[in-house]
Amino acid sequence: MYQYDIAVLGAGCAGWQLLQQLSLQPNWADCKVLLLDDGTEKQQSWSFWSAGNHPLQQLVTKSWQQLSFCSAKFSTKQSAKPYTYHHIPGKVFFNYFEQQFLPQNPNITLVKAKVNRIHNQENCFLIDTDQQSFRAKNCYSSINPQTKKPELWQHFKGWYIETKEEIFDDRTAMLMDYTTQLHQEVHFIYVLPFTKNRALVEATFFSAEVVSDALYEELIKAYLQQHFPQINYKITSAETGQIPMSRQQFNHYGPAGETLIGKAAGMVKASTGYAFNRITNDSILLAKNIGQKQYAVATGTRGRFRFYDALLLNMIRHSPQIIPNVFTQLFKHNRMPDVLRFLDEQSTLQQEIRIFASLPILPFLKQAIKHIFTYRDGK
Ligand SMILES: Cc1cc2nc3c(=O)[nH]c(=O)nc-3n(C[C@H](O)[C@H](O)[C@H](O)COP(=O)(O)OP(=O)(O)OC[C@H]3O[C@@H](n4cnc5c(N)ncnc54)[C@H](O)[C@@H]3O)c2cc1C
Repeated sequence: MYQYDIAVLGAGCAGWQLLQQLSLQPNWADCKVLLLDDGTEKQQSWSFWSAGNHPLQQLVTKSWQQLSFCSAKFSTKQSAKPYTYHHIPGKVFFNYFEQQFLPQNPNITLVKAKVNRIHNQENCFLIDTDQQSFRAKNCYSSINPQTKKPELWQHFKGWYIETKEEIFDDRTAMLMDYTTQLHQEVHFIYVLPFTKNRALVEATFFSAEVVSDALYEELIKAYLQQHFPQINYKITSAETGQIPMSRQQFNHYGPAGETLIGKAAGMVKASTGYAFNRITNDSILLAKNIGQKQYAVATGTRGRFRFYDALLLNMIRHSPQIIPNVFTQLFKHNRMPDVLRFLDEQSTLQQEIRIFASLPILPFLKQAIKHIFTYRDGK
């Protein structure tokens, strides 16, 4: 049986970001670190916004200073300042960590194995895998012990396309385009133009069940046809994904007392699916607080922001037809940076009141009353 100072379970977005932050701590080189991963193939990329440079800025391959929103009744293209919207391809992320970071940190041992069980024994974590067992003083895990089936999913399929003509505005990322409405579920198109003739065009749905590949593709084709009738394009690759939109309250500690990280710690914001930046911030705090149990027991979205997320999720479930109008009013009456600050849960109560005053009041009131009664009845 092996003895490590730190075990990190899962070499994904959170595992690697935590290791990077830990590597900046004093005495790091003397720490014996185990990184366990089951080796599942990873194919996702990350987009996120930040004010100022991100700690992984060197991995950002494209940034946009402007963001746009579009629906049948309204469209806007605005500066996101002080924020910048960034994109990190998964390949670039994993290449950096596996081929540069890992060799530079010989105190980390990467083992490919599936974790079956974590238990606590004599103030030590015992980690059973399909290969062997390991022992570690500290354990950080991105393996999810607290998943209930979510009521809703954010699910998507995107095509990376290359066009003959230069048709994209590569200074502007399109957050949501609701102009192509083909189905009852909430759906929109998201566009990341990397150059004037290369872009990711993604069909995104918010719904209880995922849809067939054909539906996403139908939506992407309809969008391209509607906005660029003369378009001549080839698909260079595709990506699909599902992100749970869960109202579950997460905890920072797992059943054996291991510290949870990433999705397992509720870092994915229920109403948006964004987690990258939250994972970064959490990794910074965890690394600073290494060995201390006090850091944030409850985690993820908390307080009034949990209530706001619940309202939106209820509305998506019960009144999906009004969602395009909710987002239209949001982007019509609020500046892009104010919306981003709100989604980052960094806004003040006064700013939130202004935002809610700009939204269709009746549906929100209805959901708020429903939420209060559901909460009171303990459902
Ligand atoms: C398709 C997709 C796209 C996303 N895009 C964005 C985005 O653009 N922006 C954003 O902010 N957020 C995005 N997210 C949300 C979030 O950022 C990601 O889910 C993020 O990868 C979560 O990090 P994680 O480390 O918790 O999980 P992961 O990155 O999934 O890492 C978990 C790791 O643990 C390993 N593992 C799992 N079980 C075991 C086991 N039993 N034993 C050993 N190893 C195990 C897995 O193989 C994996 O390597 C996206 C999510 C998905 C699913």
